[in-house]
Amino acid sequence: MLFLDQLFSNCRHYGDKLAIEFVQTDRTSSISYRDLEQQVSKAAAYLQRLGVSEGDRVALQLPKSLEFIYLHLAAMRLGAISLPLNPAFPASELEYFLSDSEAKVFFADARTEEGLEPMLSTLGALQHAIFIDLNKGLDLVAEPSKLPPLLTNPELTALMIYTSGTTGRPKGAELSHANLTANLSALHEAWQWQEDDVLLHVLPIFHTHGLMVALHGALHAGASTTLVEKFGAKETLELLLSRRFSVFMAVPTIHGRLLEEAGKKPYDLSFMRLMTSGSAGLPEDVFAHFKTTFNYTLLERYGMTETGMNLSNPYSGERRQGSVGLPLPGVEARVVDPSNETLLADGEIGEVQIRGPHVFKGYWRQAQKTAESFTPDGWLRTGDLGLKEKDGYYRLKGRSKDLIISGGFNVYPPEVELVLAEHPDIAASAVIGCPDKDWGEQVVAVVQAKPGSSLSEEEVIAFCREHLANYKAPKLVKVVSDLPRNAMGKVQKNLLRSEFCQKKTETA
Ligand code: AMP
Repeated sequence: MLFLDQLFSNCRHYGDKLAIEFVQTDRTSSISYRDLEQQVSKAAAYLQRLGVSEGDRVALQLPKSLEFIYLHLAAMRLGAISLPLNPAFPASELEYFLSDSEAKVFFADARTEEGLEPMLSTLGALQHAIFIDLNKGLDLVAEPSKLPPLLTNPELTALMIYTSGTTGRPKGAELSHANLTANLSALHEAWQWQEDDVLLHVLPIFHTHGLMVALHGALHAGASTTLVEKFGAKETLELLLSRRFSVFMAVPTIHGRLLEEAGKKPYDLSFMRLMTSGSAGLPEDVFAHFKTTFNYTLLERYGMTETGMNLSNPYSGERRQGSVGLPLPGVEARVVDPSNETLLADGEIGEVQIRGPHVFKGYWRQAQKTAESFTPDGWLRTGDLGLKEKDGYYRLKGRSKDLIISGGFNVYPPEVELVLAEHPDIAASAVIGCPDKDWGEQVVAVVQAKPGSSLSEEEVIAFCREHLANYKAPKLVKVVSDLPRNAMGKVQKNLLRSEFCQKKTETA
């Protein structure tokens, strides 16, 4: 059953049951499954009245809100394409997404109207820009009875999300109804989603993790979701302890913040059914401290916008530190030598490739880039480096674009970052390669010192030399107050390269 069919069937079956409770600083609103169906149908009728039909792009640059969810589901309900956009995108970036996608309708927060108007008026394909005052909500008076029947073509694109794009301009990844459904079914089985689950949702919903995995996952299961507008460590920990949620999904930065909040005090979260981590590698100390502080072993998983989830540590069975686990049901994974695509032996590092019904259709109007992303026999080239252990568990070793080749040797940044994490005065680090005329590339570590501590470049280099082969130890260390991170807490190494590699060349 396609995700939307399942959702509407849940709406009828669960009726008065809480579907979503939305928690803001000053108020909380909630909606039952029955009312959710009504709101989505009304929103679909409203979009239809605006002229939205199959295949049209409906861009949503709305803050986390119930309105976002109604419009997102409504666009998909009509066979149109939901296009969520990060509310933090300024007009200059937004212009690219709206013109590249040729969005027909654009929804945004009323507070952004003035700043966006001049740019929006230059967009030829855009027919409606609708600014919503979220204090009042969306005025949904349209008549849902005239809606077309629920779609039957699973290959239609349901959702388009622009990938962060470490090189070149972001690309719109098109996911079909069949792709979304395949991934939801796999996760339902692997993580044993249950109708009596209650999800505490603190992630953004314009990204695959918060939208396709967390929110869709709960709706697909007929579970209840408490959607928190904005993550705060103190509030989240309090909620987790007082409200007895069963599912929590987050990124490593959030888990780290919860640990900071707990301080040295232990809390018992062992009643949680499922707590996951993903979107970026889970530092080993966070995994270990989570266990000792919260009495819970985090389940790390690996996915990406283009696929949803690929690999996951088992729900029952060993949740291995530093590993992203095993292929999900219906997902094939392999590790190949990226230069000739031959299969590598267990333990050898190469590119992780993925195949399965959850893998996206392709990049929006980028046939060439789409073709380059797949092998001739249909494996997705993820661009992630990793290895498979003998018993089938996978470990990731960074993005292939971040791989450093220094003096002909491969240096995997996560390996160096792991050593840096052991330094008592380092809070976080990112290791990058900068061009070097002798070595091809040089290892550069950008480190963030723990509050109140001081770090010298020489000390960090000496520490690394003690624990790593010489060629892996950074030749240059930069101490920063904060690492640049995207909305999912992932360090933006491209920004670090442009900042620090250039400086290096200037002084060379
Ligand atoms: P995005 O498309 O923004 O979700 O980013 C996907 C990328 O995030 C993947 O290709 C990986 O590089 C990275 N990623 C996701 N999950 C993990 C994980 N558990 N460990 C390390 N990297 C991850």
